Amino acid sequence: MTFEIKKATRIKSRWGGFFYRRDYSGKNNPKWRGGATIDGKGRVYVYRPSHPHANKWGYVYRYRAKMEKKLGRLLRSNEVIHHKDGNCSNDRLSNLELMTFSKHAKVHCATKRRNKYGRFSN
Ligand SMILES: [Zn+2]
Repeated sequence: MTFEIKKATRIKSRWGGFFYRRDYSGKNNPKWRGGATIDGKGRVYVYRPSHPHANKWGYVYRYRAKMEKKLGRLLRSNEVIHHKDGNCSNDRLSNLELMTFSKHAKVHCATKRRNKYGRFSN
């Protein structure tokens, strides 16, 4: 019996990160989990081909989809979702906070710590 090992393809997302796509994706695959995929920073994408903000492969961030469902509307272009615990994979609604792009930048600057070289450590 032979196995053909296919490498996952690294795809650059519109938001600057990467996500991985494997050749064998599809509903026939036993590893199919409802079309969820994960990017290089741990953010989870879900397959929503009909979503108006989906990327060209039909994926949207799961936390954005969740927040939109809660709000009952689409997120605006200046709105971002902040992960309160800093874990981008934790998409529980209690961990998500809707904020504007500029407020989000402030929150992150306030929590960043400088290391001994004076650089931001995270
Ligand atoms: Zn954040």
